[in-house]
Amino acid sequence: INILAIESSCDETSASMISDGKILNNIVATQSVHEKYGGVVPELASRAHQQHLIPVVHEAIQSSGISKKGLSAVAFTKGPGLMGSLMVGVSFAKSFAFALGLPIIEVNHMQAHILAHFIDDPKPVFPFICLTVSGGHTQLVLVKDFLDMEIIGETSDDAVGEAFDKTAKLLGLPYPGGPLIDKYATQGNSKAFVFPVSDMPGLDFSFSGIKTAVLYFLRDSLKENPGFIEQNLADICASVQFTLISMLMQKLKKAAKDYNIKEIAIAGGVSANSGLRNELMATANKLGWNIYIPKMEYCTDNAAMIAIAAHYKYLKGEFCGLDVVPEARLKF
Ligand code: ATP
Ligand code: MG
Ligand code: FE
Repeated sequence: INILAIESSCDETSASMISDGKILNNIVATQSVHEKYGGVVPELASRAHQQHLIPVVHEAIQSSGISKKGLSAVAFTKGPGLMGSLMVGVSFAKSFAFALGLPIIEVNHMQAHILAHFIDDPKPVFPFICLTVSGGHTQLVLVKDFLDMEIIGETSDDAVGEAFDKTAKLLGLPYPGGPLIDKYATQGNSKAFVFPVSDMPGLDFSFSGIKTAVLYFLRDSLKENPGFIEQNLADICASVQFTLISMLMQKLKKAAKDYNIKEIAIAGGVSANSGLRNELMATANKLGWNIYIPKMEYCTDNAAMIAIAAHYKYLKGEFCGLDVVPEARLKF
């Protein structure tokens, strides 16, 4: 089974080839046009996908050593994501498959972030709990099988990645700021400043409060000392990151306890965060969890995760018709 998979949900144009469940490559073109705007500009993202998609697909096919005639199916991200971005990938996948007479497979981007755990070893054992933390989502998911997942908790407002990026913007750092906060945090004192931890019921999260708290904190501090940010950058980053990680870990521990599960995975772009990784490892040692953290290249948006999800759908015969349309708010 040879599948070409395409990912275009946000600002990464990516293509990947998978053969019998083994990822052969994962070509990613990152869009730099958004940096100067401090966030992804949807219109520019769609245009960049148009530009990058064909070269990226070409490279994935060429370097796989598999010819177009050797393909079994074409897979693509149906959603969730930016509508204009999704449309480029979906339209391309449909036309390409139609021209070659191939079946098509739609993939849910959030399920794919979780299924990235099945690309390499060690693989989590069902049922496991996955904390999905990305630019658009913060979810606790009970994963019962490859394609059988249930959201048991999620954010009621901002995603944690958004909280990282918005804080970074307030600090004058370029987009996406998450990785920079992570970098400065390693040199700072996480107890230097205290930010409020939100108190949501059950397994849900809230990250809009901390953004506002940081905004007021910086405004007041800058009034007294215009050099406040430069002089305290590492400590501010460490303190904000510590607060965000505390909120994530608090609910993850509750979920593990409520469901009596010790198989714990993380997924999504924010799982690249070194503070979160360290905290997860420490907690795993203490509570006897088996933890699963994907390779960096499979944490942020990539087509390899779409390919592995498509592989499992192919095995179950889950194809879709050419009348399929993208869904910006696709649920599972
Ligand atoms: P979604 O998957 O919800 O549609 P997305 O695709 O934009 O959203 P990803 O690409 O999975 O999200 O992740 C991007 C997010 O991850 C950004 O918010 C970015 O700042 C954050 N991120 C990446 N690396 C780090 C890091 N080391 N520390 C904190 N955040 C990080
Ligand atoms: Mg992205
Ligand atoms: Fe994503």
